[in-house]
Amino acid sequence: MGRIEFSYTAQMMLNGIKSRISQIQRDHHAFGDELAGKSFNRMFILSVIATLVSAAHIPVFSALSFETDIEQQWRLGIVVYHSFMFLMCAAFCVLTRPGRQLSITARRRITRVLHGTVLLAGVVVTSIDQLVTPAVTPFLVACTVAGALFIVNPLTAVLIYSLLFCLFALVLPLTQTNEAILISNLLNGLTSCGIAIGLSWVLWKQNIQAAQQRDVIYQQKEALELSNRQLEQLATRDDLTGLANRRMLQMVATEEQSLMNRQKIPACLLLLDLDLFKNINDELGHPAGDELLRQLAELLTQTVRASDRVARWGGEEFAILLRNTDADQGMQVAENIRAFIEQHRFELANQKGVAHEVALTVSIGVARLDATAEDMLDHAYREADLALYAAKAGGRNRVVLRASAA
Ligand code: GH3
Ligand code: MG
Ligand code: MG
Repeated sequence: MGRIEFSYTAQMMLNGIKSRISQIQRDHHAFGDELAGKSFNRMFILSVIATLVSAAHIPVFSALSFETDIEQQWRLGIVVYHSFMFLMCAAFCVLTRPGRQLSITARRRITRVLHGTVLLAGVVVTSIDQLVTPAVTPFLVACTVAGALFIVNPLTAVLIYSLLFCLFALVLPLTQTNEAILISNLLNGLTSCGIAIGLSWVLWKQNIQAAQQRDVIYQQKEALELSNRQLEQLATRDDLTGLANRRMLQMVATEEQSLMNRQKIPACLLLLDLDLFKNINDELGHPAGDELLRQLAELLTQTVRASDRVARWGGEEFAILLRNTDADQGMQVAENIRAFIEQHRFELANQKGVAHEVALTVSIGVARLDATAEDMLDHAYREADLALYAAKAGGRNRVVLRASAA
């Protein structure tokens, strides 16, 4: 029983580790390039600091003089090491300088080389230092700096710092012959690698979370913008025909009014009402009536100029705002529309799918838009409505101009 429980627990742990690893791989796949770019952006400042540090060491250690051979060897080692590092870091400064156009692959490579250089520098200086001191401070510093600056995924971090420790354990005995100190230093080196892995893990997690949060915010923003657009559409469009609604026409008229006032250009409003549409609905049914309204909307949009605006005012009534059009021209356009609709045959399919044609006529009231009127559109609507009423009273299927508009 105990053995079964143990194997169950081990299996659960293994599954947990597997799912963690695949999560890390997914995150790496999704954000790896972005985080590599982020790491790279820090490389210039790191290179500058490292160049300055090496540059400062060279004259100081060159000027020093020691009595023993070992100390002289140490001094020489440090001077050679810093001369080499100075050249390397100066090259990194050039490679990573801000504003340089580099592909993400090049950025990744440079960052990797710099990462390796920092860690190798820690091993080399610590080994040289063993000639005169048992301390492993440079190795600890290198691990801490690398862990805190280079964003690498936790799996890669474990691999890098394990290999680094192996190298450290191979190189250190070359200069540290005291067994007790060596063992102590190896343990300190192991701790340093552990610290670096921990720092890497925290850095990775923070950056992944920040990137994920940013993506969520971006998606929410997109969704919000979409629903705003849909709301705007609902508020300014007529559902049935897709035409502008009354509110939209009011917005267009307000814009137009200031232009009309400035440039003294005329404009007209046509109010168009289907004749005896109630009978059509009664004969063909309401859905057929809806279809006819949609077709009429399409027809009107195609008939007028692109600069004119067709709107559904409500029911079977449409309003058309004609820009840069005086009353005579407005009458002409209205007459053309009326005649066009009269000769047009609307097509409807019955329940069996058989098409049949329907003829419609419209009456149109025409009014001039008075740009000096405060409620320009409402005023023109009232005028056009009176003209429309006259057109209906006069027998329908006709155009009437509001007398005061002439
Ligand atoms: P008139 O020539 O005097 O305008 O006669 P009319 O029958 O068109 O006028 P009336 O105002 O009596 O009726 C308008 C009709 O328009 C009644 C209504 O059912 C129909 N109508 C209004 N809105 C819609 C709609 O969205 N869809 C459909 N199918 N019919 C509509
Ligand atoms: Mg009607
Ligand atoms: Mg009507």
